[in-house]
Amino acid sequence: ALVEPDKQVDSVCPYCGVGCQLTYNIKDDKILFVEGRDGPANNSRLCVKGRYGFDYVHHPHRLTKPMIRRADAPDKHGDFTLDPNDIDKVFREATWEEALDFAAKGFVGIRDSMGPNALAGFGSAKGSNEEAYLFQKLIRTGFKTNNVDHCTRLCHASSVVALLECLGSGAVSNPVADVDKAEVIVVIGANPTVNHPVGATWIKNAARKGHKLVVMDPRRTELAKHADHVLQFKPGSDVPLLNAIMHTIVEEGLVAPEFIAERTEGFDELQAHLKAYTPELMEPICGIPAETIREVARLYATADTAMILWGMGISQHVHGTDNARCLISLALMTGQIGRPGTGLHPLRGQNNVQGASDMGLIPMVFPDYRPVGDDEARQYFEELWQTPLDANPGLTVVEIMDAIHRGELKGLYIMGENPAMSDPDANHARQSLAELDHLVVQDIFLTETAYLADVILPASGFPEKTGTFTNTDRLVQMGRAAVSMPGDARQDLWIIQELARRLGLDWNYSGPAEVFAEIRKAVPHMAGITWDRLENEHGVVYPCFEEGDPGDWVIFTEDFPRGRGKFVPADVVPPDERPDEEYPYVLITGRMLEHWHTGSMTRRSNVLDALESQAVATVHPLTLDEMGITPGDLMTLSTRRGEVSVYARVDEGVPPGAVFMAFCYYEAAVNELSNAALDPAAKIPEFKYCAVKVSPG
Ligand code: SF4
Repeated sequence: ALVEPDKQVDSVCPYCGVGCQLTYNIKDDKILFVEGRDGPANNSRLCVKGRYGFDYVHHPHRLTKPMIRRADAPDKHGDFTLDPNDIDKVFREATWEEALDFAAKGFVGIRDSMGPNALAGFGSAKGSNEEAYLFQKLIRTGFKTNNVDHCTRLCHASSVVALLECLGSGAVSNPVADVDKAEVIVVIGANPTVNHPVGATWIKNAARKGHKLVVMDPRRTELAKHADHVLQFKPGSDVPLLNAIMHTIVEEGLVAPEFIAERTEGFDELQAHLKAYTPELMEPICGIPAETIREVARLYATADTAMILWGMGISQHVHGTDNARCLISLALMTGQIGRPGTGLHPLRGQNNVQGASDMGLIPMVFPDYRPVGDDEARQYFEELWQTPLDANPGLTVVEIMDAIHRGELKGLYIMGENPAMSDPDANHARQSLAELDHLVVQDIFLTETAYLADVILPASGFPEKTGTFTNTDRLVQMGRAAVSMPGDARQDLWIIQELARRLGLDWNYSGPAEVFAEIRKAVPHMAGITWDRLENEHGVVYPCFEEGDPGDWVIFTEDFPRGRGKFVPADVVPPDERPDEEYPYVLITGRMLEHWHTGSMTRRSNVLDALESQAVATVHPLTLDEMGITPGDLMTLSTRRGEVSVYARVDEGVPPGAVFMAFCYYEAAVNELSNAALDPAAKIPEFKYCAVKVSPG
């Protein structure tokens, strides 16, 4: 007989930024199954991750006791094989009192002997807004440094830098569902079918109804099957392609003169800059026929409504900020922004990367993106938090790893992130983590990062806590506790607060609702969202300045937060490391449908792991043939930074001469190979391009 649930709890999906609402069906404190709920972002739909990726929370590998590294543990610098069953050889169990005291004492010792900037914190885009807010507050007021960052640095930092520079706000202008109102939809450098699957259904439905879909990507993705135009441009040639599109729009007089005159600045400089970028000259560089470039330019510029959505294919380059600047210029010169069915939508990755950024989990800004160097902003937060604050921007994720290598940074607090897998040049990142004097990791599993910790604090899984989460559309939604935590695991908010107390902070938040009340003071565009509203309405979109305000789904309707929208011309900057005789192929990293990021949750979810259980890399059949490798065979990928063995899989969508691999496999961590070269403006690494050698076996 079918098992009937004894409880149902409404919540949201813990994976991607689409933010699907769901219901947990529970029996005897265990999740039996998950159903989609009718939220604004998903209309009751769920993808395979949302539907089947829940049982990780009951996995036997869950951390259930605080732990301290044993004095006779293996050397952190040595190679390690991660076997959770051998955890006792590396760590000993401790009481919460002992673990928290030890964790705090280590931080205080470093802060007081070497200064605050010898400490840093990585927060999590998978935690709630309340956790992100308290985490950055602890780093700024307890550690007394702005060295606080999170995975946005590896994801959309370049998009946010460009949006802040050109428009004055890093948020999306229109929700994904607005594609239903867009005559033309442009998806560039994104693979939503895999990474935002329910978001992709909105796009496919619109295409089915006759809306024109343009897909631009070096890989031919599944979404291309639904497209009217597919531009499979050469990896790294985004700026030449986008400049050629804009060149055509200017040359053929398809710009929006009134919009440019009334709402923008810097158009003359851009116009002059674009002269050199004729489609004919750019054709051999980007591999797209000039006539196709012209056709797409006309289609976008002459549509009544046209919307651009993009992903990490745009952002994760040394020219990621330039790529985003081009997309913004495209929308501004044609007036395709500020109305329903138009605008710019960088598809957010993690379920709360928008919220974590809003909450100030970023080294150069306080909550609400207010620069730490701005006197007025700093005074506001000094008053709110009743403590002096540092006026200097802190270090970013990759910079923190480099500072550890230089011996300048000695203590790190990581909540729910796994840089040993997610950072570029992961061997370098692991060496850095191993060099720390004091690493405290708060997580639910013994991740590759937690293995290197001095103290492990067992935390709460997503369905075990209540909090708010902000999706890619700026929709703040309520996630609710559905099941109990295992063993002695504790709520993340409780852990942060206990550490804060031991760092001398007098914190007494009774729970997430009280933290949220403070967030409303720190982030004015959320001031109108109350806890009660979230409880009753499940989600409220911002900006929402006053109670009773329904919130705005479409922004920039009358002006931009910086006043006029700014055109910033972009030059061609080649990828940092190009193929050569020794490393003749291009390596592109990314994600896959069944697994989420570093795999710590989805690889412990039975159905998802059964669907994709082996590390694979995909290659075009002609290239695989040229490599002398048969599909299904093992092959070795090597770059100047490392080597991994994976199974070869054919994919005609991967461009010839390239290899694509997802970063979810600990046994073949592709980030051991990726390049840590940074975009100068956003400090985002170039995950989407490096030179690789491939050999059989
Ligand atoms: Fe979860 Fe994203 Fe899938 Fe929705 S689309 S169910 S939010 S992973």
